[in-house]
Amino acid sequence: MTMYSHSKLSTFEQCQLKFKYRYLDKIISETKSIEAFLGTIVHDTLEWLYITKSKENEIPSIDKIMEHYANKWEEDDNENVLIIKKGLIKKDYFNKGIKFILDYYMKHRPFDEKTVGVEKRIVIDLSESEGHKIQGYIDRLVHNPEKDEYEIHDYKTSNFLPKKAKFDTDRQLALYSIGVKELFGKDKNVILIWHYLAHNIKICSQRTDEQLEQLKKDILELIHKIESTTEFPPNKSALCSWCEYNSMCPLFKKEVSNIKQNTEEKTLDIWD
Ligand code: SF4
Repeated sequence: MTMYSHSKLSTFEQCQLKFKYRYLDKIISETKSIEAFLGTIVHDTLEWLYITKSKENEIPSIDKIMEHYANKWEEDDNENVLIIKKGLIKKDYFNKGIKFILDYYMKHRPFDEKTVGVEKRIVIDLSESEGHKIQGYIDRLVHNPEKDEYEIHDYKTSNFLPKKAKFDTDRQLALYSIGVKELFGKDKNVILIWHYLAHNIKICSQRTDEQLEQLKKDILELIHKIESTTEFPPNKSALCSWCEYNSMCPLFKKEVSNIKQNTEEKTLDIWD
């Protein structure tokens, strides 16, 4: 049985060398981009908010939430958290997170939707005969008792807001909706909801059963491709600067050395 995840599939699509480093060679990188770090702390804080509300039957105050956020940031921060963008410091990202949480809190208070799970693990059987499964974690799962439908909530901390069409073809939450239907009933309506915290907006989408069946087939096809791949070439993209393996990637090292060389040559030209 092979277990896949949305992130494993996306990594293969983005760069096969990165896929090899992470999933075949199982190299664990010590470094983390500040964007990924911020995302983890914000997710943890929102998770804490809903768990605390459910345990104590009371909404935690904004001061308590900020205290949790700041403590978690301090606890997890270290020299391996890297800032890639020039001109920014850690404090800028810390403040960004404060704004995300404050805006979310003000907009969604009193958080009275019926949350039935946070960081909820789901496992989907793609093909019993081949034994391929996909697992994922839903940021927050909500049940709407009036409509007897489920909502999959996902928090995004990126500044980049994709076009609406992208949400109607997004794979990750569509996959999760297969898992939710397997758990609660195939006839259940499932709404996909993305919270773009930097923009303080939420975007919704849905899939038909036919679309979900097609998605399963497409994923199986991609898995077959992955499992028959023997060469894992690097793929240069704008994301390379944020790749945790760039210090060992031959293509990235070459790019950096070319940039350095060009800069040195230009400097020499000035002095000649
Ligand atoms: S630096 Fe770029 S090309 Fe190299 S492994 Fe990472 S994503 Fe792939």
